[in-house]
Amino acid sequence: MDKQKKLSPETINAHALHQIDTLTGGLMPAIQPSSTFVRDENYQLINAQHSYGRDESPVYDVAERVLAELEGAPSALLFSSGMSAATAVLHTLRPGDHIVAPKVMYWGLRNWLVKFCDHWGMSIDLFDSSDPKGLISAVKPGRTRLVWIETPCNPSWDVIDIAAASEIAHGVGAMLAVDSTVATPVLTQPIKFGADIVLHSATKYLNGHCDIVAGALVTAKEDECWERVREARIDAGAILGSFEAWLLQRGMRTLFLRVRRACESAQTIAEHFEGHPGLEAVIYPGLSSHPGHELASRQMEGGFGGMMCLQVKGGAKAALDVVRRCKVLIRATSLGGVESLIEHRYTIEGENSPVPADWLRLSIGIESVDDLIGDLEQALA
Ligand SMILES: *Cc1c(COP(=O)(O)O)cnc(C)c1O
Repeated sequence: MDKQKKLSPETINAHALHQIDTLTGGLMPAIQPSSTFVRDENYQLINAQHSYGRDESPVYDVAERVLAELEGAPSALLFSSGMSAATAVLHTLRPGDHIVAPKVMYWGLRNWLVKFCDHWGMSIDLFDSSDPKGLISAVKPGRTRLVWIETPCNPSWDVIDIAAASEIAHGVGAMLAVDSTVATPVLTQPIKFGADIVLHSATKYLNGHCDIVAGALVTAKEDECWERVREARIDAGAILGSFEAWLLQRGMRTLFLRVRRACESAQTIAEHFEGHPGLEAVIYPGLSSHPGHELASRQMEGGFGGMMCLQVKGGAKAALDVVRRCKVLIRATSLGGVESLIEHRYTIEGENSPVPADWLRLSIGIESVDDLIGDLEQALA
């Protein structure tokens, strides 16, 4: 007999692996909010898989199995936020361990990493992700346990070579964790390039509708480290609510459509505004002027993501004036939703921010690209 043809990721994702609610035959999973699960007269669990609400939730299964499949991984775990998922990775380390992370990355996580390392007796070195040698000189053979990268990274959209980072990390006995929130499994599967752990802020593209905060980790191997990550979820209790998990599995079903549309529109907008008289620069990895373009063309498949920055002529005030005049793009932080957002990162991050004050960060959604271009044209006029 012919081997059954493996279905494409789009189909697997749209059907959520065809997981039917066995109790009712429902096409959609049920939301199971129980905090506890019943035992029979012999004190045996009625369903051996479920005992208490902090352990596995039946609703997690759908999103976790689909995400693992999309990332080409044996296992995935949902968390209460992207940050609690990242925290779980750090909790696999010990005092004295050394970690390495980029200078420019999701600022909330970078700030927390530095504080956590200080409190926990660990050391951290931040490397310049725009310098290909930066990571090599930051790692310490035998001492570095974790190399953390984000690609494309917030908000310069520098692209880091995952395969090269994996070689460097493994060469000194460290694991490689990749924050792939911005790339999503539609554009990059970091495990294919040698990542050990992949992080998603599921708040962003995976859910896609700005209506939950959630996180996820995906592993290349179900090893001892993954066991400790699992403990951080189950025993330390970084769990997601049932309703949020249900919304996530629903939002994820349209991931490919949303991400592809965002990539297409972002590319059109970036090309349209490059060279605009009101702008110093458009920072987007899909433009050949971006330093990470060539690497992104190799590492990302089918698009360069929905995130970009505009560097406005005239400094911080001019940038804030552009934001003020926007009528379609919405003034808000975050990214990866169906509606386009515009934000002034410097205001959000504060005085110590490494982000230039004349940069605006755009998260491109799924609206008509003409409406978005028109809005930015009038805001820049
Ligand atoms: C938002 C974000 C996080 C943090 O995730 P939360 O869900 O807000 O906790 C981490 N990394 C990146 C790239 C993000 O955009």
